[in-house]
This record gives sequence, structure tokens and C-alpha cells, in this order.
Amino acid sequence: MLRGIVAFASALGLIASQAVVAPHQLSIPELVSFTGCKAEVIMDNTAPVFASYFTPDQGEGHPAIFIGTGPMPEPYADEKITYEMSEAVVMHEAAHCVHYQNGTNEYGRSEELAADRDSAGYMCSLGQNGAMIYHDLLVWAKNVFGYEGDPGHGTLEDRINAAFSAPACSPQPQQDRQDTHQS
Ligand SMILES: [Zn+2]
Repeated sequence: MLRGIVAFASALGLIASQAVVAPHQLSIPELVSFTGCKAEVIMDNTAPVFASYFTPDQGEGHPAIFIGTGPMPEPYADEKITYEMSEAVVMHEAAHCVHYQNGTNEYGRSEELAADRDSAGYMCSLGQNGAMIYHDLLVWAKNVFGYEGDPGHGTLEDRINAAFSAPACSPQPQQDRQDTHQS
């Protein structure tokens, strides 16, 4: 239910080992904090990133985000994923956290697509090409795992379209900019 972006994606362990890092250079807890999510961030280096999930109650009513930072299991141990694609997974779970803080505690298709959208949006707000990163993550999952989307999250096309719908990933409309200047 709450678990994971879906059974795909890989290796946040790469964050520690990979030379190429995102321009913001934020740690995982800092990324989660950036979104406004106030849940405890619990990292587990024995779980792969696809095991990451948000829970509204990890005990005593406290929400938490669990992030797998461990290696991919066989037979996927050699599959490489970029830092930014792993970051997209972190931001997806953070989006669930923010939605929960805003009163949503359901995790169906529409909520998942909202998390896809906002994950991309957070990355765009950090100066990254969030929608394209999200696209690349999903295409990677298709190529590696044959992932085509799923009923709980939406089709691959639904999910990519959700990412590209993030307002933060689109140029601001001209009229809005003029309004801003007038005020
Ligand atoms: Zn989700």
C-alpha cells in the first residue's frame, strides 16, 4: 500500500560512492526537509532504494520515511542508476509525507500520480530538470525490469505525464509574470 515507488529503481548507495552529484549537494535528510516533510528520516543500508516508503505511523503516531541506501539484490546487482533518479524516489516518498501533513491519508492511483508530479516539482525547484529525471527513471525501470506502470500507480505514460505537469517544471505563464510585477 504505502510501500515504495514500485518494485524498481536502485542503489541509493551510489549517492555515497558516485563522483557525480546533483548541483545542490543536499543529503537525503536535507532533501526531505526541503520538501517541508517533518517525518523522521530513517536510512537503511541493508535495503535497496525500491524498498523505500513513507508511513504515517511508525509507532506512537509518528510518521517516518524509510529510505533504502543499500545495494540492489540479484539479479540486478550490476544495474546502474544515476544519483538523480534515486533522488526522484526519495522525493516521491517525501511527497506522500507532505500530502499526509496536508490531510491526505490515501494511497491510490490519483495520490500516487500526485506524488510523481510533486517529486518532479521538488527537483525542478532545486534547479534540476525534474520532469526529465522522472521520465528517465521510469524508462530505466521499463528497460531493466520491464516495468509498464501498475494499477496502484498508473501507466508509465500516466506517471511521466504527471511529472511533466508539475508547475515548478514549467515556465511561468507570461500573464502571471506581469501580475507579479504589478503588485
Ligand atoms: Zn508512492
